[in-house]
Amino acid sequence: AKEMGGNCFSFYSQEMNERFENLLKMETALRRAVANEEFFLQYQPRICAHTQQIIGIEALLRWNHPEGEMVLPSCFIPQLEESGLIVQVGTWVIREACRQNKLWQDMGFEPLCVSVNLSSRQFRSESLVNTVSSALADSGLEPRYLELELTESLLVDNTEHAISLMHALKELGIALSIDDFGTGYSSLSYLKRFPIDCLKIDRSFITDIASNAKDAAIVEAISTLAHNLGIGLVAEGVENINQAKLLKGFGCTEMQGYFYSKPIDANHLASILNQLGSS
Ligand code: C2E
Ligand code: CA
Ligand code: CA
Ligand code: CA
Repeated sequence: AKEMGGNCFSFYSQEMNERFENLLKMETALRRAVANEEFFLQYQPRICAHTQQIIGIEALLRWNHPEGEMVLPSCFIPQLEESGLIVQVGTWVIREACRQNKLWQDMGFEPLCVSVNLSSRQFRSESLVNTVSSALADSGLEPRYLELELTESLLVDNTEHAISLMHALKELGIALSIDDFGTGYSSLSYLKRFPIDCLKIDRSFITDIASNAKDAAIVEAISTLAHNLGIGLVAEGVENINQAKLLKGFGCTEMQGYFYSKPIDANHLASILNQLGSS
């Protein structure tokens, strides 16, 4: 038994060591990625349910890993959060999204609203309002063409602080939305106090909407709620025409998902906007 305990311990600690080493390697790689500007943004269109036009895009962070393929955020956002690097990278995301969106406007495309995801560290950092206002000023983007996506979990910690911060952001003239709506600890009373322009219903409610009566009931109820509150409603993760039709019937105002477009590079989006403009 003593031997086994010893083995277990050494096995355990070796695993711990490996985990720690991997974390360190990851952090080193991410620091290098920041220094070498290996991050870039893809954009996923947001579609008006009535006109079917592209009215916005969501900026999604990608890592162009030097040794291989494009890396998706689920593989590195947690480590960026843990190391605190997320504030620096998140600032870059806000600035880049503003710059790119203004560039599209200068190219003559119909103005779109660009949405940027915020992490909780960013939301808690004291520099956020300054970061946003200087990104707007430096890019020349009108504030109404920028939206920040906040998750419910980010708002429950220190509600009073969250509300005053949201008001400060709204005073800049930008829009605010609640991302992944329905998956967090949403207290509906917050909706009364948060200055929110839009709810984004999480994909987990959309996936089985055609076959699952509960999902359908929830989405319809959220849609009524959003409508009565006078705010927008985006369905996330729309993958087929059945879902799109049902969602439109439920009064969903905007759609986003692979059925319309996957996230794409800035150049690709420009070529799509170009075709739409000339057709
Ligand atoms: P999210 O904000 O909920 O973004 C939507 C995710 O769903 C994206 O994954 C998108 O590619 C994916 N998606 C969109 N339509 C569909 C669909 O029809 N079907 C399916 N299966 N998936 C769809 P992605 O790009 O891997 O991003 C994952 C998450 O990483 C995001 O979830 C967001 O929470 C986070 N993230 C992305 N970019 C940033 C960023 O710049 N900053 C921060 N803090 N978080 C980010
Ligand atoms: Ca989002
Ligand atoms: Ca989401
Ligand atoms: Ca999500």
